[in-house]
This record gives sequence, C-alpha cells and structure tokens, in this order.
Amino acid sequence: MDPRTIRDAFAARFGRVSEIVARAPGRVNLIGEHTDYNDGFVLPIALAQSTYVAGARRDDSIARVFSANLDDERRWPLDDWTDDRQPRWTSYVAGVAALLARRGTQVRGFDLLIHSEVPVGGGLSSSAALEVAVALVLAGLAGERLAPVETVDLCRAAEHSYARVPCGLMDQYVSLLARAGTALLLDCRSRHYEHIALPLDGHVVLVANSGVHHELAAGEYARRQQQCQQAVAYFHALDPRVRALRDVTPELLDEHAPRMPSLAVARARHVVTENQRTLAAATALRRNDLEAVGRLLCASHRSLRDDYEVSCAEVDQLVAVLHGVDGVLGARLTGGGFGGCVVALARAEAVDQIEEEVRTGYKGGVDSQCRLIRTDAGPGAAIEFP
Ligand code: ADP
Ligand code: MG
Repeated sequence: MDPRTIRDAFAARFGRVSEIVARAPGRVNLIGEHTDYNDGFVLPIALAQSTYVAGARRDDSIARVFSANLDDERRWPLDDWTDDRQPRWTSYVAGVAALLARRGTQVRGFDLLIHSEVPVGGGLSSSAALEVAVALVLAGLAGERLAPVETVDLCRAAEHSYARVPCGLMDQYVSLLARAGTALLLDCRSRHYEHIALPLDGHVVLVANSGVHHELAAGEYARRQQQCQQAVAYFHALDPRVRALRDVTPELLDEHAPRMPSLAVARARHVVTENQRTLAAATALRRNDLEAVGRLLCASHRSLRDDYEVSCAEVDQLVAVLHGVDGVLGARLTGGGFGGCVVALARAEAVDQIEEEVRTGYKGGVDSQCRLIRTDAGPGAAIEFP
C-alpha cells in the first residue's frame, strides 16, 4: 500500500492532517516451530504485507482510534482504559500507550487510524504488526526514538499484559528488525540474531491458510510445553547444565530414549531435530541452496505431524496438495498448529498451478476459504512519513 493512502484516509476520517505514518510488517516463520520456548532457533521473514498506522496529537488526553479493517472507532480517556468497557482489539493500542507512558515517554491524547494488509487473526502476526506500528507512531508523536530491542520488549509486554496473549519473542523481533531480502535467524536464548540473505530469484514464499482452527490448540500447547519440561528434567538430573531442550543433542536423546517415557522422547525429538533443521536451513541459504531448504521444510512438517502431533487432517491434506505440484520445493505447517497456515517455497512460474490445485484439491473445512498469500522477504518496520 502507498503510505499516502493512509494519510488521505486519516484526513478524510478525522478532518485533520496526520503528523506521522508508520508501517510494520506481518511475518511467517520459514522453519523453527515450537523451538522458541525451548530456548532454540527460529527463522522467520517479514511479509511484504504490513499494518499502517497514521497519527496526530490532540490537545486533550483522549485516545481516539479507528480500525479501517474492523470499521470500528473507539475512544477512551488515556488514563482510564479497561477491557470490560472496550473491545479487545483496543487492548493492543492501550497497552502500548500505557507502557510507553510508564517508561517516561510523554504520551498525550492522540488520534490514530489503523489499516492492515496482514489478515487479522490469520496466524501472520497482525497483532505484533499493530503493536509495533502503534509504538513507532506514539513515540514519534512524543519526539522520541526508542532502541529497537526496547520496542520489541515493550510491544511483547503489551501483548502479554493487556491483550493477555503469552506470545514468544519472534513476532515483534522480525516485524521490527527484518531487512528486505533476508530471513532473520533468531536465537531465542541469547537473543542474538543474524540477517541471512534469502536468494529467492525466481522463487516465492507462499502462505496458505487452511481456514480451520481447532479448539484444542491452547490446551495442547500447554501440554507440549509440559512434555518438553519433562524431558528437560530427565536430562537435567544427569547434567545440571541442561536447562532446556536446546542443550540436548540428537545423540544424547537416542542414547537415553529407551529409559524415557515414549511421549517425552517423541516431543523432545521434534524440538532437538527442528533446531538442527533451522540451523541447516540457514546454512543452505548461505549456499544459495533453496532445494535443500525445501527438503528441510518437508522434514519439519513430518516431525510436527508425527513426533510433536500438532498438525491435523486439513493441514496435512493442504501440505499434500502443495507437495503434489511440480515447482513446490517444500511445504509445512507454520504457527502453533491444529489448523492455521502452511508455508511453502515454490518456483514463481508454478504459482498459477498451485492456486488451481489448492482451489480444486483442498477439501478443508466446509465453508473455509483457503487464501494464498504470495510474498518475498519484506523490510522491517519504519516511519514512512515524518
Ligand atoms: P494474528 O496475530 O495471527 O493476526 P492474533 O489473535 O494474535 O492473530 O491477533 C489478532 C488480533 O489483533 C485481532 O483480533 C485484533 O484484536 C488485533 N488486531 C490486529 N490487527 C488489527 C487491526 N488492523 N485493527 C484492529 N485490530 C487488530
Ligand atoms: Mg498474534
């Protein structure tokens, strides 16, 4: 989207000129699933699709916010936002504003207009995109520029304590720190990160939404974390330096597997091998070897399906449809699982065929629409207009 469009929309909506426009992208994780809470590695890219936020200061201390996506306008006194009086979507804005004020940023009344190209609630982190864009605008209106990692932490804290979503590190990191044409290899333990060139030439990243989301996701997610902890406890008793599955090698796991509960072994095997695959994918990218990355995506899917058991029939079928098309290098479940999205790496000339096969071959939920998004690795968040 041309950022001028949002500036014009702001003027039309509020009858005044915006002072600042910021853009923050959504993301998709290429590989490294369920590794974040095991102190492991993730390899996401920023989408070409972003959330745009335009803002201007007010003379009073009212927050007035319009979401063009929801066609909903809300207002509240800055120091009096509560989630029983306001719809949930405002918590992302109110949380960022409150945490900025708490760190000493002069947050005064504001008008904001939000417009997102990232599907809202579709597993591509429209939430982080919204938080990051709002943080850039509100800090900018106060004449401040926060360090990127401080913004990451602030936005994540807003999502935890205001939206009450216990999200990991990845979403805000990649939305803020991504660079065009690269994937972000993030070490979730040390927080060290590295931009790795994604030599797509002639290829695209595709994201297909399965259109289903099974209710058991939240409960199963907590259970997976417990099962990982169970495996960590076993190895920690042998060697106190083992603090997370990050510290367990495949060899060590194989050696002890016969003495461990079989479910803990399977869960741990996914995490341990997924960390290896993520690092291997980064190495393959450095060699320009997209075919190898594709094979790692396929292996990741099998591991998520068979060892971690977070896939479902619809997602497996969607992955199978994608794998059946010539020109698809690899595809896998991305995100927490039990529905949600599939990410694929494919040759650009195969995209029409893929669309056709998905449309005719994917059975999905009865009234589900499987939207295909095509993207390359986009740039991280930025202020577009001062
Ligand atoms: P995802 O981050 O995968 O899109 P989440 O459930 O984490 O899904 O976040 C989606 C929520 O974020 C929405 O339900 C809404 O509350 C808020 N949100 C995101 N983008 C917008 C937007 N453009 N306008 C209003 N609310 C938004
Ligand atoms: Mg989210």
